[in-house]
Amino acid sequence: MRALTLLAGALVAFAASLPTLGFESFPPGGNAHDTITARAARRAGLSRSAVRWLQAAVRRPDLEQMSVDLTLLGGRRMLRAFRTEQLWMPGCRYDRLDHFDRAAGEPSAVAFAAARDRMLDARDRAVERLSVQDVEEAIRALGDALHALQDFFSHSNAVDLDAERRAELLQILYARGVAAPPQAKLALGIVEACPPPRGLGEPARTLAEAVELCDAGSESHLCLNKDSDTSVQGRLKSNGRSKYAAARDLATEHSAILLEQVRRRVAKSDWVLLQQARLP
Ligand SMILES: [Zn+2]
Repeated sequence: MRALTLLAGALVAFAASLPTLGFESFPPGGNAHDTITARAARRAGLSRSAVRWLQAAVRRPDLEQMSVDLTLLGGRRMLRAFRTEQLWMPGCRYDRLDHFDRAAGEPSAVAFAAARDRMLDARDRAVERLSVQDVEEAIRALGDALHALQDFFSHSNAVDLDAERRAELLQILYARGVAAPPQAKLALGIVEACPPPRGLGEPARTLAEAVELCDAGSESHLCLNKDSDTSVQGRLKSNGRSKYAAARDLATEHSAILLEQVRRRVAKSDWVLLQQARLP
């Protein structure tokens, strides 16, 4: 039992030391992804049950790619200690495109186009699956598309741009094959290799060091992410609100836009199947 307690303590300390890796997907029910998804899905007329199913699908890329199954580590007692089954840990299954991240050395415009096209592929797959009444696969694909879309707002400089340059960038968010404008900046992904080479994230910095780095125009994760209102960028205020809140609101608006794009492309009866989907 003592060993278990020590292990649990070490895991908690480790988890707390990790930077956030996108809008949070944890704990289920009260995180940024869940809030954004619920607001957009309710606007699209999804039932409570369908909203819950879609929320789980949106959380999936984070949970599958960046977490460890506690059942493998400590069995039932461990699960009770954490009141969860999952713990954050960047994993080897991490794929930056699913989170609108950029690889080291990769130009932002290249990463943007690749992540955008992956997101649109998932959206189109949702349309295709819903058109043959395969609701389960349609929701899975919608979850992938919405996750990436939501992460785009927390991993890019979209909220930092003035209205005109932001509109220019958002216009090509749904235009496959169109090159990103030069103002597009995407954050560097947290995990760049498998296994991660040295440590797991970027080196720890003081706030002053971080501000200096970011003022110099760095496109590191630290300098771009608005994952939470405690991140360096996320807590900055613009027009009286945090950039985290601004990113979350834009992500909500665009999640609703993507759902509307799907609705327009499927038969009314198939859309109703999605609206009334019940978690299996
Ligand atoms: Zn993510």
